[in-house]
Amino acid sequence: MRVYLDNNATTMVDPEAFEAMKPFFCEKYGNPNSLHKFGSETHPALRNALDQLYVGINAKDSDDIIVTSCATESNNWVIKGIYFDKIANGKRKRVVTTAVEHPAIRMTCEFLKQFGVQITIVDVNEEGIITPDQLREVMGEDVALVSVMYANNETGMIFPIKELASVAHEYGALFHTDAVQAFGKIPINVRDLDVDFMSFSAHKFHGPKGVGGLYIKDSQALSSLLHGGEHMGGRRSGTLDVAGIVGMGKALELANKFMSFENSHVKRLRDKLEDALLSLPDVSVVGRRENRVPNTILASIKGVEGEAMLWDLNRAGIAASTGSACASETLESNPIMEAIGADKELAHTALRLSLSRFNTEEEIDYAIEQIKKAVERLRGISSTFAYTPEGHVSGL
Ligand code: PLP
Repeated sequence: MRVYLDNNATTMVDPEAFEAMKPFFCEKYGNPNSLHKFGSETHPALRNALDQLYVGINAKDSDDIIVTSCATESNNWVIKGIYFDKIANGKRKRVVTTAVEHPAIRMTCEFLKQFGVQITIVDVNEEGIITPDQLREVMGEDVALVSVMYANNETGMIFPIKELASVAHEYGALFHTDAVQAFGKIPINVRDLDVDFMSFSAHKFHGPKGVGGLYIKDSQALSSLLHGGEHMGGRRSGTLDVAGIVGMGKALELANKFMSFENSHVKRLRDKLEDALLSLPDVSVVGRRENRVPNTILASIKGVEGEAMLWDLNRAGIAASTGSACASETLESNPIMEAIGADKELAHTALRLSLSRFNTEEEIDYAIEQIKKAVERLRGISSTFAYTPEGHVSGL
């Protein structure tokens, strides 16, 4: 059996989204910006896809949703754009972010330090999130932008974005959220959240790879990263990937259609898998279930190296992840695990399992069986963990 439990890395394209994309490769392949019929016959599908995006996140007509190549681009765009618009020539010199952001945020901030941008990194609490009070403590009139992810890619923990955006606005700062891991898992309502910018990526919600977007409230100014033609109103140049945009729109529509299924079926399977893991001795899971996206488990299995676990699972046909617990070459602890206060052992024994609406009960039962088998085998050969008739002894 093949079981895919790495949906926070990427997802299968929903077959309906795939069907919607098909005509735009060999039939309707015109450039939407061309004046002839080949170009214009792509327009209805593009308009429809953009409508699906606006409806999907409850955006207003006066907002902008600009299609990008991925969330990495969207994240780079916001931070560098704010640097050009507000920081380079203004009084506000600071960007505030968290210790657990994706590298697309962390490395972009790091890059901007050489241009005099001050970066304040807020540590997360033991739950793996930051609270509005924590944000307020570091805020000031010198902050240009606050960037906080909606849900963490490793732990699945959900941040209180509406409240955090409100704190940023109290100080006159703009607010961006990287919502990549929230899309398709919890409802997204930009009007309610009142964020200025939001990044997303189609391949995380059963759309195609290579297409994402940036929501911009009230179409406010943001210096472009890609200059060129008049695509996307001149805000992001480059010939439009019609098939990708159509696939992304359809995928978001489907994700919202299946939202209650996500919160019943997927959550039930996730909880079943999590309960089975927790029934083993010396297993812990990061973060309360109520405050996590419904598909994610980041577990620590004492005495079981994450990488070894992946090897065993891979041989059994199961795809999971170490939750990037170790940088693959150096085997050093990952900053995210350190940020949530994990000790070295947790960081090295992490296993991330992320489900999707395409997982079945049978697959989860099989995964439980195989994980138990792997734990038994790996603990049996572990130099730091040994079973005794009474239970176990660790730290040998
Ligand atoms: N932000 C978060 C939270 C992510 O999990 C990812 C991908 O793993 C990204 C950004 C980058 O997305 P993309 O691969 O579309 O650039």
